[in-house]
Amino acid sequence: MALLLRNVRCIVSCDKHDNVYEKVDIFCKDGRIAAIGKDLDVAAERVINCTEYLCYPGLVNTHHHFYQIFSRNLPKAQGLKLFDWLTYLYDIWKNLDPEAINLSSKCALALLMKSGCTTAFDHHYVFPGESSLDLLDAQFAAAEELGARMVASRGSMNLSKKDGGLPPDSVVQTTEKILSDSQAAVEKFHDPSFGSMRQLALAPCSPFSASHELYRETAKLARSLGVRLHTHLCETKDEEYYTTTAFKMRPLEYMQSLDFVGEDVWFAHGIWFNDDELNVLRDTGAAITHCPASNMKLASGAARIPDMLELGIPVSLGVDGSASNDGSNLLEEMRLGYLLSRVTYGNRAPDAYEWLKMATLGGARTLGRDDIGSVEVGKCADLFLVDKRRLDIVGAAYSPKTMLAAVGLSGSVDYTIIGGEVTVEDGHLKKADEQELFEKSHLKIKEYLGVE
Ligand SMILES: [Zn+2]
Repeated sequence: MALLLRNVRCIVSCDKHDNVYEKVDIFCKDGRIAAIGKDLDVAAERVINCTEYLCYPGLVNTHHHFYQIFSRNLPKAQGLKLFDWLTYLYDIWKNLDPEAINLSSKCALALLMKSGCTTAFDHHYVFPGESSLDLLDAQFAAAEELGARMVASRGSMNLSKKDGGLPPDSVVQTTEKILSDSQAAVEKFHDPSFGSMRQLALAPCSPFSASHELYRETAKLARSLGVRLHTHLCETKDEEYYTTTAFKMRPLEYMQSLDFVGEDVWFAHGIWFNDDELNVLRDTGAAITHCPASNMKLASGAARIPDMLELGIPVSLGVDGSASNDGSNLLEEMRLGYLLSRVTYGNRAPDAYEWLKMATLGGARTLGRDDIGSVEVGKCADLFLVDKRRLDIVGAAYSPKTMLAAVGLSGSVDYTIIGGEVTVEDGHLKKADEQELFEKSHLKIKEYLGVE
């Protein structure tokens, strides 16, 4: 399949030279960008006239919990901080089944894709019962149906209340079960090749829901299988209190003691690092996913993003779970991050273009991928288009590099292209019926939440 984007008004490439192209064509063939240039003489099955479109690299979301989109805005979960919020929701999440995972994944992915995201990582860690491979199957099927590039996780929890953890028994599994399933999941689903549509990471949930043994053994297993490692870390002061009380170590020190730090590791949130710990991150190469909406909603705090960038720590963006964000829109995250950093750092805050790069190249680096994250010849044809004649960006489209984080969009992007395939067209999913997805999800949510 070949796709030609003819005469693109402006391409913000986010490549290493920060190239911005004006009025050029992009030729996509076999899933990759085959050429960028003026008046390309090529044959394509489809040609889109892009005279009025701005083009950006597909966004890369590096932290999410898709399933939470079915437990958003629940009255009793509002106004709580992380530990109380989790305790309330664990009791709902124990009812997850493959159908709930498939439909919620499609809904979360749909909203991401409509906001320009082309690659999404999902940190799924709730595997009630015996069906872990079934749940991952349901999730990859959702991504395949919509045409999204997916990095899933075999997440895990094994530390329930009776062992000093936070979750109830109903949502945890044994260490043995988790490790054997993790190996089986990597063998079944993980494709490390260039342009891969399916990858897997191993991801114990958090220091208060996964044991030290599970962290240590998961790290060993991931390294033996060649996959990356992920977990929540330094999200709240409550977590810091937990590790300093239970293990006599601060959270990052605890991770170091378990060999769960390094270039193959990324942490979600990373709010409460002190100066010495930021130096540890710099020296070890671990990456951070910044989730500003969730951090504000759960009153967790504001991550030290400008300090991290100055030290060269890789930073990317994530929407976090839909229930701690009440959305699944990475464009919005970019703008919230930009604004939050202005409040906390003033003129030391990164400019709006730096936020776009965190959401694109930063995400690719976090996931250990050199095939996505910028619009460049040879990379995957993952990008999105915005019509510059939209009213919501009137007066703002003259500076495309900074427009998305500084101004944002008030609706969906116009086109999202993944691996050279049009997956969102005129702001709507191309490969699935949005109304049908809503109806099926609505019925499932009533059953799942037990509401009328
Ligand atoms: Zn999370």
